[in-house]
Amino acid sequence: MLAASGGVSGFSRNLHYTEIQLKSGGFVMSEQGGEPITKGADRARLRCLVIGAGMSGILSGINILSKNYKLVSIVEKADKIGGTWRENTYPGLTCDVPSHAYTYSFAANPEWTRALPPGAEIQAYFEGVVEHYGLKPYLAFSEEIVACQWRQREWLVRAKSGREWRADVVIAATGVLHHRRMPDIPGLEHFEGHCFHTSRWDHTVELADKRIGVIGNGSTGVQIISALAGEVARLSHFQRTPQWIMPVENPAFTEEQRAAFRTNPALMEMVRNDPTYVESVRRFTEAVANPDSPEMAEIEAVVAANLEEGVADPVLRDKLRPTYRAACKRLIFSPDYYQAIQRERTELVTESIERVEAGGIRTKDGKLHELDVIALATGFHADKFMRPMQVEGRNGATLERAWARSPRAYYSVSIPDFPNFFMLNGPNGPVGNFSLIDVAEKQWAYISHLLEALQAGRAKEISASQSALDEFDARRTEAARSTVFGSGCSSWYLDAEGVPATWPWSFQRFAEEMQSPRWEDFELLA
Ligand code: NAP
Repeated sequence: MLAASGGVSGFSRNLHYTEIQLKSGGFVMSEQGGEPITKGADRARLRCLVIGAGMSGILSGINILSKNYKLVSIVEKADKIGGTWRENTYPGLTCDVPSHAYTYSFAANPEWTRALPPGAEIQAYFEGVVEHYGLKPYLAFSEEIVACQWRQREWLVRAKSGREWRADVVIAATGVLHHRRMPDIPGLEHFEGHCFHTSRWDHTVELADKRIGVIGNGSTGVQIISALAGEVARLSHFQRTPQWIMPVENPAFTEEQRAAFRTNPALMEMVRNDPTYVESVRRFTEAVANPDSPEMAEIEAVVAANLEEGVADPVLRDKLRPTYRAACKRLIFSPDYYQAIQRERTELVTESIERVEAGGIRTKDGKLHELDVIALATGFHADKFMRPMQVEGRNGATLERAWARSPRAYYSVSIPDFPNFFMLNGPNGPVGNFSLIDVAEKQWAYISHLLEALQAGRAKEISASQSALDEFDARRTEAARSTVFGSGCSSWYLDAEGVPATWPWSFQRFAEEMQSPRWEDFELLA
């Protein structure tokens, strides 16, 4: 299907994706998808173990099979695939990346119902991909990996249950935003209503007749307020720091459009590569890297106008106006937050929270906000990655020591003295308002060169050298300090020392650097 247009898109240029497309005929949700990949002839194949069955783990599994390496297992701590999209089911859950861009390059999906994909559709998409590409037999559910040890030139991987696996290569596809950040608000345990983190939404609680408090106004809190405003007895949004909001439209795809996507998949490729979207990614990353750029001035003008035009009451407008620069925190895209917060039975609370009591939240002005439900949209510990897993590499190296200051990895994918241990969406990778699927695919393309060298017998152990990591990280850190993320706000992008733990250059540069490894930066041990 899309193989016909393979090479047109920057997403589908890599040979291994083309191979997948040739074998599978491309992915669609309907029966038009063709045959899943099957295991090839048994030979001395690289044994690869994947940790995590979310977006990156599924991508890894498909690519490992397509290269005819041995996929030992995709080990998943939960009882379902999906990662973020399995865990988050809160009302209004939507990805703010366009649907056809938040899609594997080799598995276009004509069934997206909206320009921005709803969370449940994304989960269903990944389940369909797993089924289609024959990954099910490789999935080991409810197995939390507690230790990976490099022993006699192979990885010994152990789960909490005691189950063990051996592999030549470990791919850590464990995600970024999965360790819930619970707020340190006194009295939370005394609340007598329902209280849960947004990534553990309790769907048994009927909301319509309830007084609901949402703490936190990142992307999650804003989406929940937009979904619940006017739909519940009362809605209180507890804001500690205002957020800049970028307006966005989210039209539905009509049945006619979806039918056209089914019969002519090249249309999906066109939507995916919509020049307006591609250009917006370019402009956005330019703005992040260079806060004094015209691109940043443009973003600032748009979000400021959105606030001025979107909120009628000047007092409310002042409460919603941040004092830091746009995009310093992850920019929020919302079609309707300002409308939602101005709706009947909805209020913005900017007074600081003093404590939680049995009946609700008491703010520092002495007022008790009586509540039946408290939703904690307080985010995640983004610096944990695969930890608390114990990872022991070569020469006594441990992840605990390697990451004692903060998580660091050479180009996000490799850590010195952890041979054949590679990460997708690892530390210091690109973050922002673009597709992490695209990021993972580009990182996979890079890692695949390393796997090819192992399979070809060019080395038995590959990891970045310490000097290469140090040199890369010094350059990265220096550049990161002057990005907009480091311009004076708090956010999950910052490391323990307040430095943005992110890719600090343009997305184009990331795409170029991921095309092939600089071999001199790696230690290859035969
Ligand atoms: P977040 O952006 O980290 O926001 C956490 C919020 O909780 C902030 O408003 C923070 O306030 C507040 N908070 C934390 N502790 C608090 C306390 N003790 N008292 C009062 N307020 C407190 O978390 P998130 O909204 O879950 O989003 C995390 C990331 O997930 C996003 O940036 C995005 O990458 C991803 N996400 C993406 C989408 C999407 O559409 N693609 C949707 C949802 C989430 P301060 O600002 O004052 O610290």
